[in-house]
Parts: sequence; C-alpha cells; structure tokens
Amino acid sequence: MSLWVYIDGRYVLKEEAKISIFDHGFLYGDGVFEGIRAYGGRVFKLSEHLQRLYNSAKAIALKIPLKEEELKEKVLETLRKNNLTDAYIRLIVSRGEGDLGLDPHKCPRASVIIITDKIKIYPEELYKKGLAVITASTRRNIPSALDPQIKSLNYLNNILAKIEAKLREAPEAIMLNKDDYVAECTGDNIFMVKEKILFTPPLGVGILKGITRDVVIELAREENVLVKEEPFTLATLYGAEECFLTGTAAEIIPVTRVDGRVIGRGEPGIITKKLIKRFRDLTLREGVPIY
Ligand code: PMP
Repeated sequence: MSLWVYIDGRYVLKEEAKISIFDHGFLYGDGVFEGIRAYGGRVFKLSEHLQRLYNSAKAIALKIPLKEEELKEKVLETLRKNNLTDAYIRLIVSRGEGDLGLDPHKCPRASVIIITDKIKIYPEELYKKGLAVITASTRRNIPSALDPQIKSLNYLNNILAKIEAKLREAPEAIMLNKDDYVAECTGDNIFMVKEKILFTPPLGVGILKGITRDVVIELAREENVLVKEEPFTLATLYGAEECFLTGTAAEIIPVTRVDGRVIGRGEPGIITKKLIKRFRDLTLREGVPIY
C-alpha cells in the first residue's frame, strides 16, 4: 500500500518524502514532535496533543506556520488520504533549512511534516504478562538544561537509555533524575501502586507531561483510587504492589519486574487491569472523527 506523507502543504509518497540535509531538525535535533493515535476512525486526544506541540514549539521559540485548527484539519486529511482509521500519527515541526551554523534565525521557514502509519505495539501477550524493565545509568535531562516537558526532536538522552535497555535485553528502561528520583521511561511515563494508592512522579521531577498519564490520573480518580503525584526512589518502586507504564504507543502496559525484582505477585495487578480496561473503552468512545 502506498503511503502519502504531508510535507509543507504537499502530499508526497513515502519513498519520495525528503527533507534538506541543511534542515536544523536533521543537523541539530532542532524541532518538536508529537505521537498521536487514531482508534476506530477517531483521533484520540487530538487537541491535547496539538496543544502540547504548540507549547513545545513556543518553548523553543519556533513558530508553527499553521494555525492549530488548520493543522488539525491537515492531520485528519492525511489520515483520509491514506484510508487509515486505526493509526499512529507522527507530527513533526522542524526549524527548517538553514546553514551549518547553530543560529535558528538563518532558518526562515519551519517545516511541517505529518506521517500516518499502521500502529506497531507490544504483543498482546506482554499486556497479560507484564514487562521486565531495567534502570538505566543515563539520567533524564535536567530541566534547567533541556526541560523534558519540551517534546523536542533531540531524543538522544532517551536513546542512550534505550541502548542500555537493549544491551540488557529489556524492552524499556527507567530513567532517574539527577537527584535519584524515578522520572520516567525512554518513551513512557511510570506509575506504581502502594497500599492501594496510585503514585506517579510529579512534573517537577523532570518528565514529559504525558497525555496518557493525564487520562490515567483522571480514570483512576473516577474509580475512586487515590492518586498522588509525589517523587519516589527506586527502592520504593521495588517494594510496589503494582507498576505500569503509559504512553500513546504503549497505552497502559504492566511492569512485573524492575531490575530483576518481582513487583507484587509478578503479574499485572488489580488496579492496573482495571485501568487498562477503562482506557481501552475510552479510546473506542472518544476522539475527533476522521470523516
Ligand atoms: N515520556 C516520554 C519521554 C515520551 O517520549 C512519551 C511518549 N511521547 C511519554 C512519556 C508518554 O507521553 P504520551 O502519553 O503523551 O504519549
């Protein structure tokens, strides 16, 4: 099946979709992005993702050359052009073409790219069994250097941690912040359950404000689960009753081992399973219609 990619107002085939090697997104990771999903003909939390994209762009003083409403329409149009109803959407805004220097003022026009594709997710079996994750020695970026709330094209910090995970044959790595608090994973936020309370690191620890994280906090509160955004250490996490990760691609995925320590009974816990169900129901009910 041929796939159409949106680049700066034009649709080109995937094979012909190219950017300049002088684009600062390529040269320096200077740009922002979003990962979004569509379920059964609806785009889940589209406005929230667009809002985060515009906020990230603002933080790096990057002007997106389209209004939010226009970009929203382009996302839907790209899905329609590719006949996709269940999809992963990658929205990229790069600084654009400049010279070899760092100066972003030499890049007169930001580039907007929309890629839509079939989704590739963890096998269903892992949602039943849970993941065995490790902790990376690479620390999450300190907010005063590069705030993890900015979803920038510079993901080298996360990639370094992912390399550690792969070297240790783990699917994901937990990243700590510089003060030894659990921050997040390379592409997911983290939650744990202790004495029936759901804990997740607060934004101040230095994490991405995950859209799935926000949804899960809301769903848990609807289920009368007490949610606390509080910093916690690895030792506390090792003693958790339940643990799971959240992200647009992974949704809610249970974690049953951390650094070889068995979490709870070594299987997805009650609260985790309930939230997975509630989340899946929600994705099928809510969202911006593609047609
Ligand atoms: N943290 C990081 C570092 C991520 O890259 C992602 C995925 N975008 C997340 C958390 C989860 O965010 P969301 O739920 O918005 O996909």
